Amino acid sequence: MRVLLVEDDEMIGHSLKQALAGSGWSVDWVKDGLLAQSALADGGYSCVLLDLGLPKRDGIEVLRQARSQGDRTPVLVLTARDGVDARVAGLDIGADDYLVKPYELQELLARMRAVIRRRDGSAHSVVGTAALQLDLTTREVLVQGERSQLSAREFALLHALLERPGAILSRDQLENRIYGWGEEVSSNAVDVLIHGMRRKLGPDAIRNVRGLGWRVAAPSTGEPAQPARPSSATVSGPPR
Ligand code: CA
Repeated sequence: MRVLLVEDDEMIGHSLKQALAGSGWSVDWVKDGLLAQSALADGGYSCVLLDLGLPKRDGIEVLRQARSQGDRTPVLVLTARDGVDARVAGLDIGADDYLVKPYELQELLARMRAVIRRRDGSAHSVVGTAALQLDLTTREVLVQGERSQLSAREFALLHALLERPGAILSRDQLENRIYGWGEEVSSNAVDVLIHGMRRKLGPDAIRNVRGLGWRVAAPSTGEPAQPARPSSATVSGPPR
């Protein structure tokens, strides 16, 4: 999964980027508020880590604009110990949570999972459908009670599909959720990933919709392998 790291402190940013990458995240790191805004406009992030004191545009303003444009990406504010007013302001305009520097990496990762779960509408660490569930804590997938471990990219891909079961995601949309800036993406990278995942999940878990993209079965339909007719509800739901 991709995280946008907005931090102007070189040392904090560098160590955080390394630590997050070591935990399987694709990290895009920007160091000022204007770059943060253009990165958010491109989208594809599962989470944003936002410092508030930033050059060019402060973090509060970045957050305010994102929320006013309907961007619901989970945002974790990272602040200094004495920044109570800024933290309160951040929460008031739509931050999902905050952490006071310095913090432990384990706590940061746990809070990132928590804000992502809440955005998914789940209080638990498991999201998905009855047939296909994803454990956000262990990065395991459960298919009919069988657990398999997913790679970071497999996890990012399946999480994107399970956010709206039944909705079709295009190749571009999936690549945008899996790969950070500057990562080499071969033209068939998504196909190769999905091919490997079908061995873990079963051949029908991720369906190809010819010319459009991929999706997982919607939870309510209990779709047969060959659906009798396409349901409009499975193609595009309202954004959550
Ligand atoms: Ca700062």
